Amino acid sequence: MLIRHTGDYTWEDVPVLAYKEENLTCFKSVTRQVLINAVPQLPCQLRYFEVAPGGYSTLEKHEHVHFVVIFHGEGRALIDGKVHTVKEKDVIFIPSLTWHQFRAGEDSPLGFLCLVAEDRDRPVLPTSEDLTVLRENSSIADFIRS
Ligand code: MN
Repeated sequence: MLIRHTGDYTWEDVPVLAYKEENLTCFKSVTRQVLINAVPQLPCQLRYFEVAPGGYSTLEKHEHVHFVVIFHGEGRALIDGKVHTVKEKDVIFIPSLTWHQFRAGEDSPLGFLCLVAEDRDRPVLPTSEDLTVLRENSSIADFIRS
């Protein structure tokens, strides 16, 4: 099976979806495409997310892990308790139960491929106590959106 790129980071017969189905307001300007669905021999989904300039993904954590490849543009990400600049071709592992958030640059989209297990727990959002702890680090305080 070939899933052909049809230009501008869309793929043949792959719908461009809202980032999350829930009515969450803790993200901005993110789309989601499921490029390959899980099969029994590899029970994972390959997705492509794109955060528009100035947008951000949800600040969240969960038991499941992500393998991420930055695929388009650049931005910043909270990974491993630090804020990193990220750009095309960088590869990221998000371990279990660690806070993560992606932000596009002001003038650049941030698109990334994300491999995730089909059978996974729901993300947890930060409580006000969690935010207080996260904000003890000033670079994280400046970065996070929630
Ligand atoms: Mn996540």
